[in-house]
Amino acid sequence: ESKSKERGGISGFEREMDGRYIEKQKLKADLREAVASNGLNIAYQPMFKADGSRIECAEALARWVHPEKGAIPPDVFIRLAEDMGIISDITRFILMKACVDCMTWPDHIAVSVNLSARDLRDNDILAVVSEALKNSGLSPARLHLEITESCLIDEPAAVRAILAELRNSGITIAIDDFGTGFSSLSYLDTLPLDIIKIDRSFLRNIVEDGRRLKLLRGTVNLARELGLKIVTEGVETAEQLALLNKYRATDLVQGYVFSPPVPAQNVALLQEAIGRRTPLPRRRNN
Ligand code: C2E
Ligand code: MG
Ligand code: MG
Ligand code: MG
Repeated sequence: ESKSKERGGISGFEREMDGRYIEKQKLKADLREAVASNGLNIAYQPMFKADGSRIECAEALARWVHPEKGAIPPDVFIRLAEDMGIISDITRFILMKACVDCMTWPDHIAVSVNLSARDLRDNDILAVVSEALKNSGLSPARLHLEITESCLIDEPAAVRAILAELRNSGITIAIDDFGTGFSSLSYLDTLPLDIIKIDRSFLRNIVEDGRRLKLLRGTVNLARELGLKIVTEGVETAEQLALLNKYRATDLVQGYVFSPPVPAQNVALLQEAIGRRTPLPRRRNN
């Protein structure tokens, strides 16, 4: 490499690659530090009954505000943490805190935590989950765990065994981002699952395109036939919501149309506000 420098100097491209590499190393070091000092935070996005009358669950979404760069999206830092081998530290932190936060909410509201494929590669997750429940006093009936299709690629039998054990202890298992992975429908029947979360890409054009709507309705019917509950993610508009309700195409709705991710205390406040909302007086017809 010193030879090529002697010949022509390093190119702009190489310099840029070095710059990006250094940047990434710095971000990794900062992430390691944030995780070690419990510097991550959680925002919770409620899942509502489709008519908006009640919050049933809230999803814990990891947040990292970098001291200089500001908020780093979880899609970025979760991937980094997986590469660095520290995702289990994040999962543990989120599980412990999410269970404690859930205990501050009305007790019909559950909390949902995302797991990485890495978390399901060994049995440690069983101990971590029971520690989080024991520490907080939360009933397993109020804990949901979300896995993605990518969790099932390697070691499907081992993953299945871990999920079965979690589910046998009363925890609810959801498959997240349904429809974006390799989407073999057959695993819906054989995995120990309770909920499918329909990815927001399924909602694209459902208002305009009848075929897209059919695809969504068919998928939902199939899942229902298998006894699964449906959560639809990323519902943004009143039109999308109306369509889902018209065809009874979802049980729960999670999306900006009802609420973005919010701080823990706002989950209870939001539920309180919904509960206080008095039904509109009926219009007399005479
Ligand atoms: P996800 O689990 O599918 O979470 C839903 C994502 O969709 C969240 O993004 C949420 O803010 C966003 N979202 C919700 N409603 C709407 C909507 O109406 N419109 C649009 N456009 N987006 C909406 P977020 O918080 O950026 O998280 C991204 C992903 O990062 C999550 O996708 C999840 O895969 C991962 N993630 C977040 N926290 C954790 C964690 O603690 N552990 C693991 N393993 N992954 C996490
Ligand atoms: Mg999720
Ligand atoms: Mg999702
Ligand atoms: Mg997603």
